[in-house]
Amino acid sequence: MTSADVLVLGLGGMGCATAWRLAQRGQRVIGLEQFALGHQLGSSHGHTRIIRQAYYEHPCYVPLVRRAYEGWYELEQLQGEPLLISCPCLTLGPPTSELVQGVLASAREHHLPIETLTSDEVGKRFPAFAQRSEVVGVVESTAGYLYVERCVQAMAAAARRLGAELRDNEAILNWRAEGSTLVVRTTRGEYQAPRLIVTAGPWARSLLGELADRLRVMRQVALWHETSRPELFRRDRFPLFIAETPAGYFYGIPAVDLRGVKVARHYGADELLDPQQIERQISEADHAPVRQFLNDYLPAADGRCSEASVCIYTLTPDRHFLIDRHPTIEGVTFAAGFSGHGFKFAPVVGEILADLALTGRSDWPIERFRLRQACWSALGTRNCSS
Ligand SMILES: Cc1cc2nc3c(=O)[nH]c(=O)nc-3n(C[C@H](O)[C@H](O)[C@H](O)COP(=O)(O)OP(=O)(O)OC[C@H]3O[C@@H](n4cnc5c(N)ncnc54)[C@H](O)[C@@H]3O)c2cc1C
Repeated sequence: MTSADVLVLGLGGMGCATAWRLAQRGQRVIGLEQFALGHQLGSSHGHTRIIRQAYYEHPCYVPLVRRAYEGWYELEQLQGEPLLISCPCLTLGPPTSELVQGVLASAREHHLPIETLTSDEVGKRFPAFAQRSEVVGVVESTAGYLYVERCVQAMAAAARRLGAELRDNEAILNWRAEGSTLVVRTTRGEYQAPRLIVTAGPWARSLLGELADRLRVMRQVALWHETSRPELFRRDRFPLFIAETPAGYFYGIPAVDLRGVKVARHYGADELLDPQQIERQISEADHAPVRQFLNDYLPAADGRCSEASVCIYTLTPDRHFLIDRHPTIEGVTFAAGFSGHGFKFAPVVGEILADLALTGRSDWPIERFRLRQACWSALGTRNCSS
């Protein structure tokens, strides 16, 4: 049986970050991944991810995202290539919307530089957007986007340079505790360590059992569209954006290559139990809501759809992350349920998981992400006391 100090189960964005951070602390790490490293079947692919600081989901994420920026720049230095590209982020929605109010609340609490725009000003600053009197804009200049696959590969490379052994195309079948030793059985053999960390993304339920019984997966489709006025969608004239509309939330990324502008609906699909239920084919039903959004908000994004990508969200009931130590089995730590907004945090999630696994605690503000098993199971939410 092969031994390590820590076993990392699942090597998507969070697992690679965790292997990297553990290896930095001198741990002998073995990471296990069922598919090829950098595969397109989970949650950490699709060219780009948005990173932003004025966090509408809750102000408690702001210190974490600030730390994540440092991690991405550290990784760029190690990798010798740009991973995080600065670009303003425009939040668009009715003045009283959850999105606009959430961004303003985080900005206020953490003194973030933002600018509010009337609907006229949105059109003048970013002429690709149609004039819509019901919305206002909030611009955050400190946002950006990440090249997601490059980031995953860079974290894996950084971990390997520090001695981590990352094994792909090797599925974990199960794990068990034998006294204080944790044993993982895979399609190729068995591994043992005093500590293991589960970062299995959409497959978390199969490795965490009842701890993860409230997690659900949701199919998401990102689409790239060519435009009739490419000059309006360049990143010097077009922002990252998130819009709250009567048809739901939509987000997008400027045309940074020949694929054109990236646009997707955020949430809005069925909640499923298992990634095997995810339909991998794209259909007309995937295009319709995005086409309607483009028609209403970005009329010049009227070209051919050049690419489409199916990706999976893993959702918690309250859409906040799930990061904790196992309540009964010593040495087991896990992170899951990133609810469609986790990638930007990967370097700091790696640090938090390394803290929890090695010392049992973390100084980062993660109270909101803890299991609190009683609330989680009985009430369907962890925030029963807040
Ligand atoms: C379309 C889309 C857009 C998004 N946009 C953003 C954004 O703009 N900004 C942002 O911050 N976040 C965004 N997210 C969310 C973010 O990408 C995810 O939160 C993050 O990638 C989750 O990473 P993960 O490591 O938890 O999951 P994954 O990347 O899926 O990794 C889990 C890994 O575990 C492996 N695994 C599972 N079970 C086993 C097993 N039994 N044996 C071996 N290996 C196993 C899987 O194969 C997989 O590689 C987006 C997500 C999607 C789908």
